[in-house]
Amino acid sequence: MTRNIAILGSTGSVGRNALRVIDGLGPEYAIVALSAHSNVQLLAEQTKRHEPKFVAITNSDYAAALRELIGDLDVEVLSGLDGLTEIAELEGVDIVLSAVVGSAGVRSALATVRAGKRLAIANKESLIIAGELLTKAAKENGTTILPVDSEHSAIFQAMLSGSHKEVRRIILTASGGPFRKATVEDLQNVTLEQALAHPVWSMGPKITIDSATMVNKAFEVIAARWLFDIPVEKIEVLVHPESIVHSLVEFVDGSVIAQLGKPDMRLPIQYALTYPSRVPGICERLRLEEVGKLTFESPNLEVFRGLSLGFEVARTGGTAAAVFNAANEAAVEEFLAGRIRFVNIVELVEHCLNKNRVKRHVSLDELLEADAWARREVRNKVQKCVGAKS
Ligand code: MG
Repeated sequence: MTRNIAILGSTGSVGRNALRVIDGLGPEYAIVALSAHSNVQLLAEQTKRHEPKFVAITNSDYAAALRELIGDLDVEVLSGLDGLTEIAELEGVDIVLSAVVGSAGVRSALATVRAGKRLAIANKESLIIAGELLTKAAKENGTTILPVDSEHSAIFQAMLSGSHKEVRRIILTASGGPFRKATVEDLQNVTLEQALAHPVWSMGPKITIDSATMVNKAFEVIAARWLFDIPVEKIEVLVHPESIVHSLVEFVDGSVIAQLGKPDMRLPIQYALTYPSRVPGICERLRLEEVGKLTFESPNLEVFRGLSLGFEVARTGGTAAAVFNAANEAAVEEFLAGRIRFVNIVELVEHCLNKNRVKRHVSLDELLEADAWARREVRNKVQKCVGAKS
């Protein structure tokens, strides 16, 4: 049986890797739709190579350029964020791999599970902002959300060793990023270049910065809470610099089940597409004798304030996670643009969390309102500070 796959966000690093994985899987995995935000050049190349039936460009300004580039190929061009939702709802799509960056992926993720389709989710923000809505909708529509993030994929796989009520705790591993050994003072002088140099994983700039602040791990705590329906009290983070053990689950009898592999995002991408089967793929095999030693340490929550905020946010629920995510996204943008310092990222996030009045049991619109508010708040605050300096 053919599995028809749509990749939302095909020009980003997860999207490009997914295309390589699918190429290696053979003809029963077909690409039927692709999307990008603005990288028309690459999207056009991918369209020519993989011949999907639909392509979407979410930044409508580029729609004409895309049409020109793909010429007379037999493919329908959609545009705007609605294009993603349209793709998610297409009858000929079985699996939606959402690798969109940011909150732009929420509506199409929801549309996917509401249509009863498998959602392979790499777009962490959807789970952070709307994890409660998404997992509820998946349950109601009898479908599964397959995590693409290496840690969540590991937990998903380890969870298959017991029943949900037999889980004592889940342990998310973290590489610790480039500042694992840093002190609170060291972080004050971090440059953009240092923050972008991740020791293990090669990823896009936004997530690389999130790894450096460990806010990424905070996101994973929040996402795990929803993906696995686990209270925050049962979630722990363990720093593991080698990034070979991708995460672990401890069961009530004391057994700890881990998933190991090379730090290669193509493996969790592949598993999310082939589950419940496992098939040979293009990933390099792990040779533990070459790794030699695996080490673990507790994270320093004083240095990585962003991580402890994540646990608080996960406990608070409601709009807190949407604010956490949006404030961070806006602050990282400011940092990448050189307008603020590294430490200001988490300071701005904390500022927004303190100022936000948490609402509970909210709709998607209310979550997106909280998201928009936090972005404005960060921009205003940065403008004021930059203005005061010049
Ligand atoms: Mg991860």
